[in-house]
Amino acid sequence: EANTNCSIVIFGATGDLAKRKLFPSIYNLYRKGQLDSRFAVVGVARRGWTDESFRENVAASLRDSKMQVEGDLEDFLSHFRYLAFDVTNTASYQDLNTLLGEMEQQFDIPGNRMFYMAMAPEFFGTIASYLKSEGVKNEKGWNRLIIEKPFGRDLPSAQKLNEELRQAFAEDEIYRIDHYLGKEMVQNIEVIRFGNAIFESLWSNRYISNIQVTSSESLGVEDRGGYYDKSGALRDMLQNHMLQMVALLAMEPPIRLSTDEVRSEKIKALRSLRPMTEEEVAKYFVRGQYGPGTMGEKEVPGYRSEGNVPEDSRTETYVAGKLMIDNFRWAGVPFYVRTGKRMAEKSTKIVIQFKDLPMNLYDKADEKKQPNLLIIHIQPDEGISLVLNGKKMGTSGTATPVKLDYCNNCVDSLNTPEAYEKLLYDAIQGDGTNFTHWDEVALSWQFVDVISKAWTNNTNVDFPNYAAGSMGPQAADDLLAEDGFHWWPIA
Ligand code: NAD
Repeated sequence: EANTNCSIVIFGATGDLAKRKLFPSIYNLYRKGQLDSRFAVVGVARRGWTDESFRENVAASLRDSKMQVEGDLEDFLSHFRYLAFDVTNTASYQDLNTLLGEMEQQFDIPGNRMFYMAMAPEFFGTIASYLKSEGVKNEKGWNRLIIEKPFGRDLPSAQKLNEELRQAFAEDEIYRIDHYLGKEMVQNIEVIRFGNAIFESLWSNRYISNIQVTSSESLGVEDRGGYYDKSGALRDMLQNHMLQMVALLAMEPPIRLSTDEVRSEKIKALRSLRPMTEEEVAKYFVRGQYGPGTMGEKEVPGYRSEGNVPEDSRTETYVAGKLMIDNFRWAGVPFYVRTGKRMAEKSTKIVIQFKDLPMNLYDKADEKKQPNLLIIHIQPDEGISLVLNGKKMGTSGTATPVKLDYCNNCVDSLNTPEAYEKLLYDAIQGDGTNFTHWDEVALSWQFVDVISKAWTNNTNVDFPNYAAGSMGPQAADDLLAEDGFHWWPIA
């Protein structure tokens, strides 16, 4: 039985992530009884807030998230305390240790401590090492560290960060967040594959022609231009979220659903990614940056006119690629991925396209039948669609596509827990399955670093090259056309 009564320390408690995601998640866990009633939350940040102003902020975050706050709010907030903090000052850590000791007494907590890093990533290493050196990382109970993205900006910086963390925390105490892994339908990939005879028996190069993973955003960079311009779509989305989805789609069935077994299959899938040389990158990857355009009725500016973005920025806001997984199951099957900002629609979707029948009796001279598709809708819709061919009613000898739809969140979208809520719950239980292991991070960076090097060294792409409100640059369509495929519409 997992020991779940614990303290949660949030580094960066006055920030955006804490307000939009963490407080509402903790409240939901509390209300559902998934959080032991003996819990404590310490908010840590630079500002000189008091417990009262912190609690008011937590309450406001619940109101802003449109949560139905019941009569228990006051009890909930009584578990929250605030500490003004300087991450490089040892005295801050001693204060934190004292406060945690008090709260552990008050709420009868046996020393279990969860440290949540929701601060700028340059502090992660510093904080972890002080937690250890100042004894905040406890001898009693468990200690866990939750790390937000980004985990480095390339392999060397990720390695450095990891070494800093590992001097203070063991690998199995570190929970690296990839919030896509907390999404209901991303977790469902495993169930769809391994819980259904009709899919897993077809899940290979014998029956699948290609797989398409799209994660499109309609928003631009909003007020995060300064941050985004140093990152770009490749680092911000592809290295982590997209490659994680590919790993789940491509991995072999694990021998059981334990953390270690699932991870080791994902790692093997990532190890099978066909490596590229810098020269080959252009054959497999396409980058884009949005120019001005229209979103619905609204005219929106191009990326280079956004706040805190240089006029001549060469940062990509879009990336599409073709991944080849060189193993027995997947040889010859392209995995196409694309992600970007200011695209026509906000949607994350996976389309599995099955091979055509060797001969389809319903093909017409001028028109081949549509292939079967399995579509996994990740967000905002959550569900599965299966596109089959059925008889066209009232005709003979004519087939037409029929779509079977299952919608997970149509009935009651409020019952779908947020990714953060599930991940926080997993971490409190000590379940690391839906977090990324260091080996996954390292393999992903190793793959992505070649692309970013090629793009830095080769500047012969004209930006902007797609209009806001479109589905990306022409080159992304050409990438599939060369193989005789096209992107399936995401709507
Ligand atoms: P933010 O800028 O809104 O908040 C940063 C927090 O850190 C604030 O509470 C601030 O007071 C505190 N802080 C900064 N410097 C400090 C210092 N020297 N000493 C003490 N406290 C200090 O940032 P955010 O958007 O909440 O993001 C936090 C982390 O979460 C980042 O790693 C970010 O990449 C990651 N993240 C954020 C989101 C999001 O939606 N906001 C999504 C995914 C990941």
